[in-house]
Amino acid sequence: MRINHGRVAGEPSEARGPTFTGTVWAEPLLRDVPGVVVNTVFFPPGARTHWHRHQTGQLLLVTHGRGLAVNESGDGDIILPGDVVWFEPGERHWHGGAPDSYLTHIAVSLGETEWEQAVSEDDYRAAAERIA
Ligand code: MN
Repeated sequence: MRINHGRVAGEPSEARGPTFTGTVWAEPLLRDVPGVVVNTVFFPPGARTHWHRHQTGQLLLVTHGRGLAVNESGDGDIILPGDVVWFEPGERHWHGGAPDSYLTHIAVSLGETEWEQAVSEDDYRAAAERIA
């Protein structure tokens, strides 16, 4: 058994520049279990991940604010505190804050994450208008 009191002791908060749009912060909650990475992730309004896939899936537990979760086929929804989001293994998607709200979620990422290009401003705005 291992208990981390809130976050991994001694690990800094990480500003996630290269694979996110905007200044996104990740707090490490679990680091030393093979194939599992757990972070609390904070997105300011308008900030979001690049397009990406998780090798064996990802679970998001939304804790604060309001955001967007969108997949390649255009399915997407607003995400709110209490929502639980599951991305299937290999499902191409992105997630982030709403245009007018920050978002905080806990992310349980399984297997390797494969990062792709940024979500364009046009694609982000279109998704936000459709579902926010
Ligand atoms: Mn993801």
